[in-house]
Amino acid sequence: MARHGATASGGVNRQALSAEEFAAWRELIEWGRTLGMTPYTDAIGNLFLRLQCGDPDAPAVLTGSHLDSQPSGGRFDGVFGVLAGLEAVQSIVDAGVPLARPIEVVAWMNEEGSRFAPGMMGSSAFTGAATPESYFEIRDSAGVSVADGLTQLRAAFPDLERRALRRPYAAYLEAHIEQGPVLEGAGRTIGIVTGIQGKQTFRVTVRGEEAHAGTTLRRERKDALLAAIDIIGALSSEARDEADLVKFTVGRLVVEPNAPSVVPGRAIFSVDIRHPDSAVLARLGDAVPQLCRAHAGPCAVEVVRLTAAPSLAFPDDVTHAIAEAAERLGLSAMRLPSAAGHDARFLNDVCPTGMIFVPCKDGISHNEAESATPGDLAAGARVLAEVIAQHAR
Ligand SMILES: [Zn+2]
Repeated sequence: MARHGATASGGVNRQALSAEEFAAWRELIEWGRTLGMTPYTDAIGNLFLRLQCGDPDAPAVLTGSHLDSQPSGGRFDGVFGVLAGLEAVQSIVDAGVPLARPIEVVAWMNEEGSRFAPGMMGSSAFTGAATPESYFEIRDSAGVSVADGLTQLRAAFPDLERRALRRPYAAYLEAHIEQGPVLEGAGRTIGIVTGIQGKQTFRVTVRGEEAHAGTTLRRERKDALLAAIDIIGALSSEARDEADLVKFTVGRLVVEPNAPSVVPGRAIFSVDIRHPDSAVLARLGDAVPQLCRAHAGPCAVEVVRLTAAPSLAFPDDVTHAIAEAAERLGLSAMRLPSAAGHDARFLNDVCPTGMIFVPCKDGISHNEAESATPGDLAAGARVLAEVIAQHAR
């Protein structure tokens, strides 16, 4: 899979609804077909592979993750969960495990949110947390909309069947690299994910006035970049906590017209705030619009909240099933919350959901250097297979 969108430094650039992701789809569909799985899609561009077995009308067990990556992403984020799901299906079929219900592997559309923001479009539209239509007009930096991308997807896969959103599932299980240093530091192989840290994201647009860098007096200027810097400084101070639990990030800043001799007329930036405690997170998020206005100086500011996701806990019976599977297989395990967001967040609203983490080298992710050992990945896939089989039997 890492060949699709491979970068010179050993990572991948395989963004949502790109030609690279379509190539990955093609390969995954082919692999699924060799296992006897039927591919299909839906109105928001998720890819499903269905293994028909047991009662065809019984809700299936769903597993998977995403195939899209950050622009300079690694080879494991997302794709591990999809391929581990496929490996699990292969093992279950090979072992002749009697199944009471179908199993499906999914690759959710646009988990990363790097080409089109926000992320997790596929899983949120699938579960009904958002409508597909609410995403269609969102555009990437080249002006291509989600609707355009979906049209290209359908053109690339004209024969793929389309099914309804919000179909019921018996369970959703997602394997993923940890994307943090906890498992590696503790010397454990399997992470039993207890829940997902919430996050709030915003898009802030500061509007000033373009002016001549040589002739315009300071008191007459409406410098959008200087205002943005003041605002970011204020938000960053507000987010500073003694315990070092708040995660505050401004990962994107666009300055217009971005010319050396022009006072910036517009600055647009992203804000991403995370905290494991929902109440603290809500307080920090609620403070953003007012802090932006208070530090905008002579400029106008517009704040759009893109995500307000509280922290959540996965159900005990799923985490217990994962813990028992790891124990049966003789793998060292520990419970931990996920510091990163995942599609499992939305599935947790509609069916019993759980996640399995494996260590990644030095906790590095969203980086071309992202790495995980074959042994750890195989261990995660084995636990996943056990838990899927248990839920599908
Ligand atoms: Zn991911």
